[in-house]
Amino acid sequence: MKNLVSLTYLDSYDNLKVKTAIEKAFFNLKIDTIIKPNMKVLLKVCLPQSIQPDSAETSHPSIVRGVVDMINSLGAKCIIADSPYKTYSLSHLDEVYFDTGMLEVANSSNCELNHNLKIFTINTPNGLKAKSITLLDVINEVDVIINLGKIKIDENLGYLGASANMFGLVPGEMKSLVLNRLNTIGDYNNYLIDIIDALKSKLIFNILDGVVAIEAGETQRMLSCIAMSENIFSLDASIINLLGLNYNNTIIKQASDRGFIDINFPFEIIGEKIDSFRIDDFALYDYDLNTSIHNNISKQKIYFNSHQQRPVIKPKTCKGCSVCSKICPTNAIMMKYDKNGELYADIDYKKCIFCNKCFLSCPYMVVKLKTPIGFKKLHKEINKYNDEK
Ligand code: SF4
Ligand code: SF4
Repeated sequence: MKNLVSLTYLDSYDNLKVKTAIEKAFFNLKIDTIIKPNMKVLLKVCLPQSIQPDSAETSHPSIVRGVVDMINSLGAKCIIADSPYKTYSLSHLDEVYFDTGMLEVANSSNCELNHNLKIFTINTPNGLKAKSITLLDVINEVDVIINLGKIKIDENLGYLGASANMFGLVPGEMKSLVLNRLNTIGDYNNYLIDIIDALKSKLIFNILDGVVAIEAGETQRMLSCIAMSENIFSLDASIINLLGLNYNNTIIKQASDRGFIDINFPFEIIGEKIDSFRIDDFALYDYDLNTSIHNNISKQKIYFNSHQQRPVIKPKTCKGCSVCSKICPTNAIMMKYDKNGELYADIDYKKCIFCNKCFLSCPYMVVKLKTPIGFKKLHKEINKYNDEK
């Protein structure tokens, strides 16, 4: 993969300036040679939550519009997609599309918003953290993927850029399931590399919006740049270098160890010089790869646990047949002896992914589903929105 990165100065989201900057970068990187007429392009934007565009947490509509217009001008067709945290439902997607300005982009340009809620599982035999990964089915509708992320420093995960943006292709609530199973930033990065490797035949181009970035402490900070590359790791390496982070504490070290990038020559800049974008006091969390992702991520765990139906097995009613223990995909069910020497099934909720297979498989129907208040409230809201549609 080429390691060329285009860095272009862009100091506002003014539509004309954005258009000029995107055209310049596309020209520098000869993107017209990789996007062909009639191609269907998934534009993987950054929509982690339902929030106004000026928050800088989500892809800015003017950048999305600029990229869509470029793709259209090359004769290709674009579908905007992401899966926000929380519920992957039509109502939540529509809420996010509206609040983030994506609905307006779609209405004013020739592109679609994804409403395909199906998911699929792809085998990742070379994966370090997963041997299969569940992703949005819209990936199967398109020829290629363009990854359009934001530059952020996150209190749980440290640097988030192009690679981390690919995590949005994991459907809604499943993100929390995955994060619950990972321990360190190194694990998270390896999971991202597993996703990127699985999608390498479709992922053709990557863009990072650094006009306004998020620095440590969740504050907005102008970086005044838009960065692009065919190579997702080169793109991240250039921004990691620009911010002054150590490669050895980031996904670049792991991508290098796994043969996806040469850490000694990770990128080559075309366009403006990287030094002209450096900010000495950009606030960072420079975590190392062994840093636990569960220090602050408990917020997500709390959300997830309070909204999921969970299986419950009472030792007294269990017949000790072990069917559930054998079928559980995460080995969350241990067979134990009670004080009378009777076998019963015991669930370890730290391992449980709430798949309900134990509930469905118990021949004696003694596995019950406990429904938290949060679950009822959430699904009531979803049904209300769906009824209104
Ligand atoms: S819900 Fe699924 S993961 Fe959890 S204990 Fe039952 S079978 Fe195992
Ligand atoms: S399948 Fe049902 S009866 Fe058998 S061990 Fe599991 S909970 Fe108990």
